[in-house]
Parts: sequence; structure tokens; C-alpha cells
Amino acid sequence: MHQSKLFSKTRKEAPKDEEAKNAKLLIRAGYIHKNMAGVYEFLPLGLRVMNKISSIIREEMDAIGAHELKLTVLQSKETWEKTGRWSDEAVDNWFKTELKNESKLGLAFTHEEPLTNLLKEYIDSHKDLPLGLYQIQVKFRNELRAKSGILRGREFLMKDLYSFAKDEKEHEDFYEHMKGVYKKIFDRVGIGEQTYITVASGGDFTDSFTHEFQTLCENGEDTIYLDKEKAIAVNKEVYSDETLEKLGLNKENLSEEKAIEVGNIFPLGTRFSDALGLTYKDEKGERKPVVMGSYGIGISRLMGTVVETLSDDAGLIWPDAIAPFKVHLISLDQNEASEELYNELTEKGIEVLFDDRELGAGVKLADADLIGIPHRVVVSAKTEEAGKIEYKKRSEGESSLISTEELIEKFMA
Ligand code: ATP
Ligand code: MG
Repeated sequence: MHQSKLFSKTRKEAPKDEEAKNAKLLIRAGYIHKNMAGVYEFLPLGLRVMNKISSIIREEMDAIGAHELKLTVLQSKETWEKTGRWSDEAVDNWFKTELKNESKLGLAFTHEEPLTNLLKEYIDSHKDLPLGLYQIQVKFRNELRAKSGILRGREFLMKDLYSFAKDEKEHEDFYEHMKGVYKKIFDRVGIGEQTYITVASGGDFTDSFTHEFQTLCENGEDTIYLDKEKAIAVNKEVYSDETLEKLGLNKENLSEEKAIEVGNIFPLGTRFSDALGLTYKDEKGERKPVVMGSYGIGISRLMGTVVETLSDDAGLIWPDAIAPFKVHLISLDQNEASEELYNELTEKGIEVLFDDRELGAGVKLADADLIGIPHRVVVSAKTEEAGKIEYKKRSEGESSLISTEELIEKFMA
């Protein structure tokens, strides 16, 4: 991609009313546009990052045999009334609208109800279970406060997976397996080291614990108590002597931390299948309720979390796996050698953003720091004379002169 043709624009200042670090940096670097509080548009650079995160998640979901589908965002009131979740008293962040004939509709904040309802037509026998279904889709929530940039959007992208099992045992096997799958996803995205499985409450869903995946971050909204050695945390909302005892944790080994919830997993029991009548016939022909679980990851929040935790004063720093481009190739003298190098890298399948703009070196290098592509390559009359290129990792300070072959080796390993 030639930067002169990229639909984007870097800016010195973020909007005055923007408070969150993630939004300030992403707006300044040209990844997102603020439409209104809590509502952001994703520009080409931002969309590339979201798509990379989505691809990682999709690969891991497909690897466990889950099936991707896409439900509608428009929700029928009748379905949600059956589980007691239509009223604004039960759920305070609904966006609601209506048809021309005045019948009410909701905009989905989650999808347990419509999916359970749909499955009544597709699950009949024990042979249809277990089953995992997921989607990567927009959700709407009328959040009271929306000051955290893309960490808490009123419209945001979520991966939501739902599991359907014959009994508690089958459900638990799936649930335990998902803990490992989530860990792998956060590792692959590049924040695995700072992200901990955290015991949390089930809200109105379940009496048992649920599990969140919390990324340590001083700007995080949540407070957790972390046992680093055991790599497990307890959310403040369930932090008590009784909980610690149940989990075999010792108060002295816990540190209080701020964190961002990037994902969570919930055992749902038969709450939804009972309310909506989702059953299957077991081997004896007896009807039984399906045991469910739900597993969310806030994809746009995850992108914001990476910004909150990995950026520096000069700008963004993307991990390789989710960067919009792998290499930022900067030509300082509009020389032919840079165009040739661009072609060579691109032909090898390496994603390159090529800064071919006729601007001063200072502006181009500052933009490169702000945009945060992990590998920077500078080509100038000077480097050409030396028969080398100047290479620097965005996350490291020093640059070095290396040959084109050495550069390519870095990506072909
Ligand atoms: P929170 O506790 O942060 O309000 P939640 O527990 O209500 O979130 P879920 O309904 O379980 O979240 O949604 C699954 C995931 O979606 C969360 O773990 C989070 O990563 C993400 N998420 C939830 N609300 C938002 C939002 N308003 N903007 C962006 N991501 C969100
Ligand atoms: Mg939560």
C-alpha cells in the first residue's frame, strides 16, 4: 500500500472532548473516527487491525469445531419477554426501536435468546449435541458512561460463542477446554503475558462462578486481586474470605490491580433452554433441557486494550500478529531503490505500508512512530550509498544498517 494513496490522516491533536488514551491515539494516528460519545467509525487502518484480531479468533473457534453464523441485530420483544429480559428494569442498556406498525424491536446487546429460540427448530436428538455456534458481530448497548473510547462503545464488535450440551458433565468439559482456547487467543494477539483468568460472579445467570479474562492496565475499570504465581485472579465483586477459601488462595499472595475485561465465559445452565423450551430427546426417548454456556470476547475492546497497554509517548506499538502492516517502508529521497524494495517485499507476501509521500524526514518518521507498524525500514540516498537499509523495531530504540537479504530473513523465519 502506497501511503500517498492510503485513506487516512494523522493529526497533532485528538478531539478536545476525548478523554481515553486509546481513542486519542487511534484518532490521531488515523485508525478511527469519533462520530459521537461512545460511537466510533473504523477507518481502513483500524479495520485492518480488527480484521486481524477477528481472524485469530475465527481460527481458534473453527479449530474446536464451532460453527460460524450471523444472527440479526433486530430483536423481537416476544422472545425476550419469555426470559424476563425485555424490560428496562431487567436490562438497563437496551436500545429499542419500532416498526411502522408500532410493534417494538430491540437492537441486540447479546444473543442468548434469539439463538436458543432458533435452535428449537434444529436440535431434536442427543445426536445433535454437543454443539458450538459463534458469530463475530456488532452489538449495541446504551451505556450510561462512554468515556473509555473503544473500550466501552455504544456500538462495538463482539465474538460471541454459545455452547449446547446434553448434561452438566458435557458442558463442563467444553467450558474447561474454552479456558485454554481463550488463553491461546490472548497469547496470539500479543497481550497474553498481562492477561489473567479471573473468577467473577454470574450476575443473574448463575449461582456458580463465571470467568473473566482481565488484562492488567492502570486505566482499567475493574479491580482484581491477582495471585501472579498461580496465574489466577479474583474480581473485587466476589472477593471475600469464603471465595478465597473455596479457590484455595491465600490473601498474602494477592496484589490489588486495575484491569480491563477483554473476555468472559459463563455457565448458563438451563436458564435459557427452560424459559424458551429448548430440549432434546435422550437415548431413552425422554425430553431433557439443553445445558448452555456463553463465551464473549470484545474485539474492539481488545484492540483498545492493546493500545492502552503497549503504546508509548510517541504513538502506537502493534504486536506483529495484529498490526495493519508488518513493515513501514519509508523513502526519504523518493529514490528508485525504495520502490524496488517495496515490490520485492510485497511479492514475498509481506504486508508493507510504503511512505512515498513528498514530505520532510521529520514528519514521516514522527508519523511512523504514531502509526506504530512493528518493523520500520528507511531508505535514503545515504543508505543506498552504503548498499544497506536502515532497520528499526518500533518497540526498540536503536536502528541498525542491514542488507536487504537480512531484512527478508527476519520475515521468512
Ligand atoms: P462489562 O462488565 O465491561 O460491562 P459485560 O460483562 O457486560 O462487560 P459481556 O456482556 O459478557 O460483557 O460481553 C462480552 C465481552 O464484550 C466483554 O468481556 C467485553 O470484552 C466486551 N464488551 C462488553 N461491553 C462492551 C462495550 N460497551 N464496548 C466494547 N466491548 C464491550
Ligand atoms: Mg463484566
